Amino acid sequence: MSPVARDPPPTASRVRPGTVVRSCTVAASAAPGGSPWHWRPRTLVRTCGLRDAGISNWTCAANGRGDVPMWRSITAACCGLALAAAVLSGTAAAAGPGPLPEGPAGPLATMPGGSLAQPPPLAGLSAATARCPAPPYGPRHYAPGTGKTVALTFDDGPGKTTAAVLSILAKYKVPATFFNIGANMAGRPTPVRTEAKDRYVLGNHTWDHPDMTRLSAARQATEMDRANAEQRTLTGTVACVFRPPYGTYNATTLRLAQQRRMSVWLWSVDTEDWKAHGPGSDSAYWVQRIIRLAETEGGRLHHPVVLMHNQAAGNPATVKALPVIIKYFRSHGYRFVTL
Ligand SMILES: [Zn+2]
Repeated sequence: MSPVARDPPPTASRVRPGTVVRSCTVAASAAPGGSPWHWRPRTLVRTCGLRDAGISNWTCAANGRGDVPMWRSITAACCGLALAAAVLSGTAAAAGPGPLPEGPAGPLATMPGGSLAQPPPLAGLSAATARCPAPPYGPRHYAPGTGKTVALTFDDGPGKTTAAVLSILAKYKVPATFFNIGANMAGRPTPVRTEAKDRYVLGNHTWDHPDMTRLSAARQATEMDRANAEQRTLTGTVACVFRPPYGTYNATTLRLAQQRRMSVWLWSVDTEDWKAHGPGSDSAYWVQRIIRLAETEGGRLHHPVVLMHNQAAGNPATVKALPVIIKYFRSHGYRFVTL
């Protein structure tokens, strides 16, 4: 379970003119306390008004032990760095809000009769989570294991294309991690049981996919606990790994996840497959775009964690791209691992 983070986080130095800035790193030497801080866009929007500069797809988060006063004290420095990088890259003049790092989950699965699932009872959960190994604090982005390893991850499921994804993974004998949504598990229990039976890793992706940074601590805890309770109801297991919706989290999220013995996993390769929806969502354009992002972003890392989706409404382009992506990593010497 321990990550091997040999691949560095994205840094401002990678920014080239014409590219969209997604993140920057404040070097250890420049950060109070001497810890390296990895910044991602969205909180920056709130804390330093980047939206006014037309940069709305930024999140700011601490990659390491975070405390609020320290976090505040270096926000200004990070904002300056981010703005400078954005100006360099020519994105400061871009208008309107940009996409979130992970997109919306789409409509949730419904129960027979058309209503959303009722959350399950939470009694006895703490005893169940105690079976998970003690997790480290803070988010991880790189796949565990020695040599070249890659972790395929599928968020927001289960959905209409989950069975097809499972079929491909089984055909190629590839392990994977599913970050399921509690309400979708309740509405579509069969693939969840299959995932558990076939020894895929089931991760917690909250009950109904909120932006956790907008919730109180109590509501964040309920989101995690309801998803774990649903998984326990269906499979007898609880999640030992957690991925916050949209990739957004705060210190409360990290603390609550650690208390539940869930390690927090983000990703290092974003296929942006959730953008393909509606008519034409399985077109060659989208399939090739997903493949290209997986190969170009993943191929330069030794331990990529690849973000893909199996949402309630289905992600057919992901299904078409998946065999190509598997063959790419396998032929380039990667070993498939779970989180
Ligand atoms: Zn999601």
